[in-house]
Amino acid sequence: MTLGKNFRLPTDVKPKAYDADLRLDLNADRFEGELAIEVALGAGRRAITVHAVGLEVTDARAEIGAVAIAGKAAADAESETVTLSFADELPAGEVRVRIVYRGAFSPGLRGLYRAGSMAVTQFEAADARRLFPCFDEPAFKAVWRLRVEGVPNQAIAISNGKVIRDDNDGRGGRRLTFAPTPPLSSYLVALIVGPLSASPVEVARDVPITTWTTPEKRALTAFAQTIATAVLPRLEDYFGLPYAFGKLDQIGVPDFEAGAMENAGAVTFREVALLADPATAPLAVQKRVAEVITHELAHQWFGNLVTMVWWDDLWLNEAFATWMAYKIVDDWRPSWRIWMDFESGKGAALALDALVSAHPIRADINNAEEAGESFDAITYEKGGAVLRMLEGFLGADRFRDGIRLYMRRHREANATADDLWGALGEASGLPIQEISDDWIRKTGYPLIDLALVDGGVALELKQRRFFSDPSAAAAVGDGANTKWLVPIVLRFKDAKGVKEQPVMLREASARIPLNADGPVAWCIGNADSRGFYRTNYDDATLGKLLPAVGELRPAERIALISDQWALVRSDQAPIERFLDLVMSLRGEEDHVVLDEIVGRLALIEHRFLADEDRAAFGKLLTDMYGERAAKLGWSPAPNEDDEIRLRRAVLLRALVVTARDAGAVAEAEKRLPAAGSTGDVDPNLLDLVVTAAARRADEARFEDLRARVKTETDPATKRRYLHALARVEEGALPARAVELALSDDVPMQDFSSFVSVLLGNRATREATFAMISDRWAETRAKADSPMILRRLVEALAALPERRHYEAVRAFLDAHPIDGAKQAIAQTLERMQMDAALRDRILPPVGAWLRGRR
Ligand SMILES: [Zn+2]
Repeated sequence: MTLGKNFRLPTDVKPKAYDADLRLDLNADRFEGELAIEVALGAGRRAITVHAVGLEVTDARAEIGAVAIAGKAAADAESETVTLSFADELPAGEVRVRIVYRGAFSPGLRGLYRAGSMAVTQFEAADARRLFPCFDEPAFKAVWRLRVEGVPNQAIAISNGKVIRDDNDGRGGRRLTFAPTPPLSSYLVALIVGPLSASPVEVARDVPITTWTTPEKRALTAFAQTIATAVLPRLEDYFGLPYAFGKLDQIGVPDFEAGAMENAGAVTFREVALLADPATAPLAVQKRVAEVITHELAHQWFGNLVTMVWWDDLWLNEAFATWMAYKIVDDWRPSWRIWMDFESGKGAALALDALVSAHPIRADINNAEEAGESFDAITYEKGGAVLRMLEGFLGADRFRDGIRLYMRRHREANATADDLWGALGEASGLPIQEISDDWIRKTGYPLIDLALVDGGVALELKQRRFFSDPSAAAAVGDGANTKWLVPIVLRFKDAKGVKEQPVMLREASARIPLNADGPVAWCIGNADSRGFYRTNYDDATLGKLLPAVGELRPAERIALISDQWALVRSDQAPIERFLDLVMSLRGEEDHVVLDEIVGRLALIEHRFLADEDRAAFGKLLTDMYGERAAKLGWSPAPNEDDEIRLRRAVLLRALVVTARDAGAVAEAEKRLPAAGSTGDVDPNLLDLVVTAAARRADEARFEDLRARVKTETDPATKRRYLHALARVEEGALPARAVELALSDDVPMQDFSSFVSVLLGNRATREATFAMISDRWAETRAKADSPMILRRLVEALAALPERRHYEAVRAFLDAHPIDGAKQAIAQTLERMQMDAALRDRILPPVGAWLRGRR
């Protein structure tokens, strides 16, 4: 008999504490364990089931006081459990369960695995069971007391608690005892062993903070220390509760599945998300490091101290940490305008959530595999945007008071979304449940039609669910009639100036008198772009907006571009109107808005342009941006501010990468820094400089770049050179680049992103898809991690044509992938839609370009 994939542990068997003794054999990548679990039984029983994968239980028994009862273990593969059956019934009350077991390091990037010279754990969502037989669901919080033997004398071992004893293990290594943890869910337990080197310790209030890496990268730890030291006190102040885990270690791991993992007190990171030198790193890299560190620290409260009951509330963890990270980093470095970066993440969520195959923020999750699938833009960015919308609705102080109440009430325990709404409602006195349920439980979001009426003193609003695919509304039936409670903030200009007006749209349509002094000059339907919806202005209302576009805030201009593009996609606006909008914004100065425009133009160049139109499109970009780029030049003036540096980077990227302007490409190419240096190029230009050099690389430069990947210590620089290898275009190099994907040159953590660059390169994409389909077993082994595999599937969407869609669909039909069902459905829906869009807009884009000559 099998318990089945959706088996959940009974709730009347509760672990209170784990005493774990682990003996590592780092030469053989194996371990042995002895575990004593203090368990509270709600009723008498003869068997206890715990999670375990790949663990061989050699002895099991139960102890009640001084009485020992022998047990037998039976494993069940599908439910990933071991059931311990005992010779006598265990009475209700406290029991100590002893399990002796052994196992091997896990392949891929989960469980206890090998990352270069380190042994590292990654347990979320459900891989603690690969190292410990345990109650591996988030509701089962328990104290963990961990001892580890077999730690080499020169190595460092880090876990959630600090080291409280360091003894000789009698076998040539050391035996380390870690301080007991506060009650923790199993997915938050961590162990890292290896030759690590540390930054000097910093103390924030009374929390010692240390950043660890492999010795050669030690100099890159200072920035992470600065960030953690700055943001930890800010988080304590926001939550009104001190940091709960005694010390904070941040560890850069050389091969890592996600961006980072918030293990209590021992946060692990992909190196590129932790280690950077602010003197030579592009600002985008610095901001990302700050955002990721703050996100993981926010989890120490939201997730670690108060934990979701089950994975259906994963969004509570992730949406909150996402939102909080931007809020705190913005407070720390307001000049970065980090909320503008949030806008780009929100764009990805708006795109994903416009698919028929999207899911609600709070989804039904049946098992750990489905939990793994929910780590996506809807859970993180849409969830974060909805919290931001709610904060705007309640006011920042009342929202914070509600969060504090929720934290105090559920600390060291578990909670659900309803507990959060309860606390927010109690603190604010406002009916929060209705509005939040609407946004958390319904798939998709509304498109708001706006039309100024009555001579410009009133506004007509309508809502309908937005789909990217023009034919989707018919396909989903009733789902297309979804309505939301939409908190809208209008911003308009009347005779006296610019005003905001909040509106709650409840019905399918409403006519709103504007609180304006006479007819308005213009009106925008999503002030500051805080709402998670799209806007569609009728021609007259848009006609008033366009001449005033300079009066809009940058986030509003981004939303206008993004919404207009979405309307083209869904066949509700002509592509010519979008191209005209882009032309009217050609003088845009704000680098973030400029980046949005250039990004859309690059997308058109990549997917929606006939080969014979490329030259004209390139010339258009040179006409638009050449003169401004020339004025700024390639070298920053002394003390030039970040805004100008970043504007220069976007303009040059348009010319070098998208337009392939010969003069600009030549200038970029000659600035390729020498190996081991960042040269005298502004760091924000390094990506485009290296891209230009890679595209024109010959054999010698290819080998040079390849060598740099091996020798560079700075993770962002290393990744830049690695991706450069996938950008080659000349001679036999594209074929060699594709070969590299499956070689040791590309670590597992970078496999899907490397393939994604290959699939985005016209010179390599066909051979790359052929490699994936012809050598699927090898490809799959190289993506031996559910998240990397999902990213690999998603990368296929870079293939632009209908024939690609047909081939990918046939391939995925023939090769189903467990744990990537959503990713497959979403990728195929995207590809089909993009192929249809390509068929539809290729001719008018060409005609529009010819009409400009
Ligand atoms: Zn997170």
